[in-house]
Amino acid sequence: MPPTLATGLWELMDSSLPSAAPKCPSHPDRLAATTCSRCGTFLCSQCVVARPERLCAACLARKLSDLPASRPYSFRGALQTGWTLLRARFGLYLALTGVFALPEALVRLWVPGLQALLGFLCSTTLGLVGVLACLSCAAEAGLGRRIDWWTALRAALRAWPRAFLARLGAAVQVALFFLLLIVPGFIRWVQLCVVTPVALLEHSGSALRRSAELTAGWGWSLLGLLCAANVLLLLLVGSTALLVGEVAELAPPLLGPAVLLQTWLANVGALCVEMLMLGAYFGLKSSTERAEELLFEQDPASR
Ligand SMILES: [Zn+2]
Ligand SMILES: [Zn+2]
Repeated sequence: MPPTLATGLWELMDSSLPSAAPKCPSHPDRLAATTCSRCGTFLCSQCVVARPERLCAACLARKLSDLPASRPYSFRGALQTGWTLLRARFGLYLALTGVFALPEALVRLWVPGLQALLGFLCSTTLGLVGVLACLSCAAEAGLGRRIDWWTALRAALRAWPRAFLARLGAAVQVALFFLLLIVPGFIRWVQLCVVTPVALLEHSGSALRRSAELTAGWGWSLLGLLCAANVLLLLLVGSTALLVGEVAELAPPLLGPAVLLQTWLANVGALCVEMLMLGAYFGLKSSTERAEELLFEQDPASR
């Protein structure tokens, strides 16, 4: 049947009438299922990229580039990121550090003679579990996520063998290089300064080699960062050790709590240094990735 004037008009009106239901701007044939929780743009189910937060692709990219973990490296940037990560879960860090400093403090109190050696062994084995757990929480905070202490502890135990061996290897190498001469010692110290975050967050390859790759070209800035952090740590440990010495002479019954407090503070101080190095690691990683992206953009063969 040929269309009459009436049916033709009706079809024209029907197709030109705006539909009440909003459409997806990227897919005009689809109805919007929701809106972006940041910018409010209409999204079809295919265009929602971050499920729990309900973001559009542009807002997700913006959110990721705002994260502490994605800022490029600079001296100030590493300090800022380290500080942000430290503040993110400070209560949890205090609790974890306290628990893992306890065996070290007990050894220092009850095994005179061998206390220095046993305390050192405790802090490099058990203490490292606490450090890794805190760094796991901080790394997740740097990526905009939040994990509980139990998940952090499991991540720490998984990473422990790799981190322990990497730190041992780094310590031996730095010591050997210092024995050779002072300057190579400092160079190796700087090259291996992000070995712990690498061992924790990257699961394959040599952590030592990767640390040396990441730190290449940032030697002076990293040396400044390391020296400043370690001088502050030594001042903290030294002043609290003096305090414990005073307490031991003036009020022997208070020696136990004083040693416990001193060990705890020393561990918190050491964690602050590690947190700073995690901040530096994130910066170095972003800078390296950005440099690689630029390289690919300039290379016409890779397009
Ligand atoms: Zn959006
Ligand atoms: Zn869409």
